[in-house]
Amino acid sequence: MKEILFLEPVFKEMVWGGNRLREFGYEIPSEQTGECWAISAHANGDDTIRSGRFEGKKLSELWAENLELFGNIGGDRFPLLIKIIDAKGDLSIQVHPDDAYAREHENGSYGKTECWYILDCDPEATIVIGHNAKDSKEVADMIHGERWGEFIREIPVKKGDFFQINPGCVHAIKGGTMILETQQNSDITYRVYDYGRLQNGKPRQLHVEQSIAVIKAPYVAEDAAARTITAKGDAAIEHLITCPYYSVDRIEVDGSVTLVQDKPFLNVSIYEGEGTIDGTPVRKGDHFILPAGYGAYELNGKLGLIVSSVE
Ligand code: ZN
Repeated sequence: MKEILFLEPVFKEMVWGGNRLREFGYEIPSEQTGECWAISAHANGDDTIRSGRFEGKKLSELWAENLELFGNIGGDRFPLLIKIIDAKGDLSIQVHPDDAYAREHENGSYGKTECWYILDCDPEATIVIGHNAKDSKEVADMIHGERWGEFIREIPVKKGDFFQINPGCVHAIKGGTMILETQQNSDITYRVYDYGRLQNGKPRQLHVEQSIAVIKAPYVAEDAAARTITAKGDAAIEHLITCPYYSVDRIEVDGSVTLVQDKPFLNVSIYEGEGTIDGTPVRKGDHFILPAGYGAYELNGKLGLIVSSVE
């Protein structure tokens, strides 16, 4: 089918959120808007189709009723969730369970593997990835003893960096960072530490025991190897990751390029610039799905895109 499925994102206000999602042309609910659920069929933020034959439908409804759009891949829910995150403040230090733990302890939910492309950050920005405990016992000791300075592994970050966050990996985005996140369709987060902050006068709930149960130790840094860039037409295509849940590429266009959508479906997020896809105008902040069988598509203009698929 040759119809592009444009999505109307859902916005989430967060204690750590800001107002920079306006830079993407969005009407945001407040000055503490933390997340744009850009391509989502999750019950906590189910996007609506913006135009065309399926205008007004939820993405979850399309998944349930028109599985042919998604290559009939099976599975009981749309598998991925794409977000743009604006962290004005620090996010809590957190960890996600894998599928097996979430299925058993979180009412059949998926686990959460995620990855981040850094869209922008302050000059001296850092992020938290991993920890410094040597084994699971030391993880528990450091967390119970609130030895955060020793426990947390913090590294410098710059625009254009990319990180894969597997289940069991302690992580947090810090203030002044904007990312595009590609993740499994899951909303299960265990908060290890929240810097002692209060929300409406109370600390946000921590999940200390679940965190200790799922944190992998020792932390082993991901191999940063796999980023390769291929030239095609007026585009540079950078392969960011392939993991069991998704494959993610970044495409930079300056001119014209014809590419092929031959996956079950392709999620596309425009994070920079403006132009057209098959003659339809698109710009920074647009998110859409190219359905199964779409085939060749032509991009024109000056565009930065993050695309993802399930294989
Ligand atoms: Zn996370």
